[in-house]
Amino acid sequence: MMQVLKFGGTSVGSVENMNHVRTIINDGDKKIVVLSAMSGTTNSLVSIAAKVKNNHTEAAQSEIKSLNEKYVEVVNDLLSERSLNAKVADYVSERFNFLLACTNKSYTLPLENEILAQGELLSTYMFNAYLQQEGINSQLLPALDFMKIDAVKEPDLKYIRERLNGVLENTPEADIYITQGFICLDDHGAVSNLQRGGSDYTATIVGAVIKADEVQIWTDIDGMHNNDPRFVEGTQPISDLSFDEAAELAYFGAKILHPQTVLPVRADGIPVRLKNTMNPSALGTLISSDHVENGIKAIAAKDNITAIKIKSGRMLQAHGFLRKVFEIFEVYETPIDMITTSEVAVSLTIDDDKNLDKIVSELESIAIIEVDKNQSIVCLVGHSIVNHEDTFKLFQILKDVKIRMISYGGSRNNISLLIDAEDKIGTLQKLNEYLFELVTL
Ligand code: ASP
Repeated sequence: MMQVLKFGGTSVGSVENMNHVRTIINDGDKKIVVLSAMSGTTNSLVSIAAKVKNNHTEAAQSEIKSLNEKYVEVVNDLLSERSLNAKVADYVSERFNFLLACTNKSYTLPLENEILAQGELLSTYMFNAYLQQEGINSQLLPALDFMKIDAVKEPDLKYIRERLNGVLENTPEADIYITQGFICLDDHGAVSNLQRGGSDYTATIVGAVIKADEVQIWTDIDGMHNNDPRFVEGTQPISDLSFDEAAELAYFGAKILHPQTVLPVRADGIPVRLKNTMNPSALGTLISSDHVENGIKAIAAKDNITAIKIKSGRMLQAHGFLRKVFEIFEVYETPIDMITTSEVAVSLTIDDDKNLDKIVSELESIAIIEVDKNQSIVCLVGHSIVNHEDTFKLFQILKDVKIRMISYGGSRNNISLLIDAEDKIGTLQKLNEYLFELVTL
């Protein structure tokens, strides 16, 4: 049984942090290590791709050159062994020449995906060479040899299982396998990715197909916090979460986990542990099949939400009205997040407002529509919170802020409030005050 450990952008973002990662993984156990790109790199690659798209060739080239300089510096700081240094320097210049060549091609989505893939290719190549320099028996496993998504962008688990197990059997002698997070092939065999932040997802997919005994996600924070540490003081790491609770939180913007992360491992009950590379002795958060009913465990918020109120006399005592409403969202492939209804109106929220105008104009043919932009969803998560005796305390928030919508009972583990974005920080702080003195974490 092996463990899968994923290290995020800051963990591989500097020579010093790569040194921490080496100490953490070098404990004598065989493992697969999934790496992100160095912090900031994928953002730069996104911006380079946008410049290529807009034909800002020179600007793209100058951004590539400054990114290249950063890598040259890291390689020199990381690798003192001459032949390894030369080998990695060659690889780095090959990757940057590839990026420069992309600036003379015409933009396509596959080209953008190739550009975005360079960050993980660079970080894993450099880090693998560094481990070898330090005398560790490591082996690079190219993710593009086994990681694949299907036509609906879901991981092709059968293919991944066969290919990855095949690759592992061919290289049984390594102690540590290093692979790229985020990148994969699509169903046509072209380079693609698992969306931003997707390295976590790579780790749990790999964990599921090799039936790992644990997947660890190493970031720069001591696990998942019970509230947003950017806005609230005194937040606490949560020691245990169930898969259900983690899924609710990931979706609602607890940025620490990619939303789909726990899906591949939950069926087999493979636990996911969130740890801090800069503070490895902190317990972190363990996400597993176990659940403790402990009231409200965490609060998270999601911004840039649009609320749509659909009001119609025709809704009264009528059937089929909601179907018509939902069909319009279906046509524009727009997911609905929250929904509340009264006898004459239904309010719902969307996150993706790309087709808002078209949706509104179609809705206007059946109802009166009001749109409120700049809303935030604040979600409270905890196993069976809807039944917990302390949950009523949350309603004290009604005296502090105006609640636009509330969703209670959609799942037993979640209560969501929709508020004006400008009230978000105050709401998070007040809820923290009302709720977390009650819960022993
Ligand atoms: N490097 C990719 C990103 O920044 C994937 C990841 O880090 O998880 O989104």
